[in-house]
Amino acid sequence: MDYDVIVVGAGHAGIEAALAAARLGSKTLMLTLNLDHIGQMSCNPAIGGMGKSHLVREIDALGGEMARAIDETGIQFRVLNTRKGPAVRATRAQADKALYRQRMKRVAETTPNLTLRQGSVERLRVERGNVSSNRHEMLDTFPLQHSRVRGVMTQIGESFSAQTVILTTGTFLKGLIHVGLKNYAAGRAGDFAVEGLSSHLSELGFHIGRLKTGTCPRLDKRTINYDILEPQYGDSPPPALSFSTEAIIQEQLPCHITYTNEKTHQTITAGLDRSPLYSGVIEGRGPRYCPSIEDKIIRFKEKPRHQIFLEPEGRNTVEVYPNGLSTSLPLDVQLAMVRSIQGLEDAEIMRPGYAIEYDYADPTQLTQTLETRLISGLYFAGQINGTTGYEEAAAQGIMAGINATMKVRGETPLIFSRDQAYIGVLLDDLVTKGVGGEPYRMFTSRAEHRLLLREDNADVRLSAFGRRIGLIDASSAERTLRKKEDIAREVQRLEATILTPNETVNTQLSALGTAEIKTPTSLAKLLRRPELSFGDIQSISPSPMPLSTGVGAEVEIEVKYSGYIRRQEEGINRVRHMEEALIPHEIDYTDVQGLSNEVKEKLLTLRPRSLGQASRIPGVTPAAVSLLAIHLKRKRTGAA
Ligand code: FAD
Repeated sequence: MDYDVIVVGAGHAGIEAALAAARLGSKTLMLTLNLDHIGQMSCNPAIGGMGKSHLVREIDALGGEMARAIDETGIQFRVLNTRKGPAVRATRAQADKALYRQRMKRVAETTPNLTLRQGSVERLRVERGNVSSNRHEMLDTFPLQHSRVRGVMTQIGESFSAQTVILTTGTFLKGLIHVGLKNYAAGRAGDFAVEGLSSHLSELGFHIGRLKTGTCPRLDKRTINYDILEPQYGDSPPPALSFSTEAIIQEQLPCHITYTNEKTHQTITAGLDRSPLYSGVIEGRGPRYCPSIEDKIIRFKEKPRHQIFLEPEGRNTVEVYPNGLSTSLPLDVQLAMVRSIQGLEDAEIMRPGYAIEYDYADPTQLTQTLETRLISGLYFAGQINGTTGYEEAAAQGIMAGINATMKVRGETPLIFSRDQAYIGVLLDDLVTKGVGGEPYRMFTSRAEHRLLLREDNADVRLSAFGRRIGLIDASSAERTLRKKEDIAREVQRLEATILTPNETVNTQLSALGTAEIKTPTSLAKLLRRPELSFGDIQSISPSPMPLSTGVGAEVEIEVKYSGYIRRQEEGINRVRHMEEALIPHEIDYTDVQGLSNEVKEKLLTLRPRSLGQASRIPGVTPAAVSLLAIHLKRKRTGAA
């Protein structure tokens, strides 16, 4: 059978890619190593958190699955950074790993147009165009696509045909697990590694690199002394991640907090001679922002202790994830380290922590649709692109699924700019700058316009795109439209409603702990006082109509931060022309006068889509961008 889209892998990138493609009507095949591991969380049992919840909400606004899955199966929900500004507030949910996985499998099995198969893809079927025998020479001189993907072959010789293929192979390519000085091939603990595919990608001309990541040991809950530990509860009511969730009704479970101490640090230091990280066995670079405990005690020598969160892996299991204790030390050192910690004196390790090295493909080989520049119809999404994190993977997955379908249909791809979505920031960073040799994770600080790209307004920003391409239904689109209208109407009302100073008003204001007014004052001006909330304003002057969910929070942010928001919008408008100045695909950079060879080479290799993207390529100077702009203008006007 001929498929429109084949998705290789069923992790967070794979499932979103496959669901998006199938829901958009593409005949889709999802091929994966183990059908029981669809949506498996390889590491921490949580979705969301700083920078990541923004991606989850954006995926949700586009019609993806991650937010709905965690809302339905999660065990604890909290908003982080509530005391900080709205741009950096983030929702985080503890997951029940097994329930999450089972739910994802059920959705995959019941989605029309989606076929599931277990198998290991070893090779791609590629139809070569007029590619010369000297592949690299060819690439340098003809960076446009000359080969087409035609399907995949599995290790037992099965062959599947498709117009497009999305590889989402995570940490599995030549995966090598390290525990102390012992190592073995695996995709993650309990899964096989895939040995042949990355060599095949190299043969096809892709640049393949090596990275590493790590995870914590898992502890037996029955051996933890919770009586002496500080519990950490979720918020009440629990905040949902999906805009379509009306309420989270399942019971929430607490996590617990403990700390490393001097003895823990001594134990780790004494075991470093058998650490694969510090004895030079591991070559790949790990995530700087998600360091192992051995990295932490070496890098932050002055810190007497590090916080550890004991997170249940689910409702129906005794496994506990000690968040903060990622390690690849030998098992005996892991056990001694764990038992040096308060509350864990008798703890048993059920699964050892480990580090894993794996092959990844440099994402600068991709266009902003995640299609490879080398082979038409071939897309890479998720950790294969050097990212880390479920949310980063899922965001790439949904975009690859959408864009593979657009390619099959011959329609315009969906590409977000950096001022529209964190997804736009993620993809632009990956394809323009690469990952810089270490796993890439999302932070709010990566977005230039973060006050506009909040997690709370992802639906208002993106639902129209989800609706236009057909991934979200009419009722969700209608709900967002209503929310948008309510926000605009309420902001307008607050600006237009003027309170006259009188005894009733001033008594109310005093009761709210804020200064009395002496001159006529708008409700909006009052709301801009730091001590007043939207709820306070409502108590003085309620809206005449009921407001839909989430409107109050949005109105408060829009009014309180209106000055900053306006300035960010003005900044975006000033540089918009750069993003809109598209560079024709067939441009010959050798023709552009005044560019250095180094800049020409960079532009030739990365083929930026617009002047804006060109300006973000490391080493491409503002002067070079001006020369390029002049060249494009001359070409457009037909001047010599
Ligand atoms: P994966 O979830 O790895 O899924 C890959 C999928 O591809 C699997 O379904 C597999 O069966 C399939 N597959 C692979 N090769 C083939 C093939 N040839 N044929 C068919 N199917 C194939 N993220 C964090 O945010 N924080 C962390 O602390 C963290 N620590 C981690 C620790 C470890 C040990 C690991 C392994 C990962 C960690 N991650 C962490 C990363 C996070 O798990 C991944 O970024 C995320 O799961 C990647 O999703 P993915 O869909 O790209 O790949």
